Amino acid sequence: MMLEIGVGRVALSAPCGCSMTCPQCGVESSLDAMCETPVGGPLPRGQFQCPVCHYAFQRREVEPGTTWRSGNAVCYVPGRLGLVPCERRL
Ligand SMILES: [Zn+2]
Repeated sequence: MMLEIGVGRVALSAPCGCSMTCPQCGVESSLDAMCETPVGGPLPRGQFQCPVCHYAFQRREVEPGTTWRSGNAVCYVPGRLGLVPCERRL
């Protein structure tokens, strides 16, 4: 898959076929590009940064999950996930 992103760096390849849409500028980029800082370093797991506008965000629970207990067994059901802004990195 080839994407035009209009900042000189074209051809973002997406070997896994996954892509994400930036919640800030709406550009669609490969998951690989979203998981790297602008200088090419890896972002912490679960964090993403738009390669075009550098908007940083992470996917995490925005509503608390529920813990179920049945005897000694504990089962945690995660809450609703959402994209929340986080600190951008270089
Ligand atoms: Zn963006």
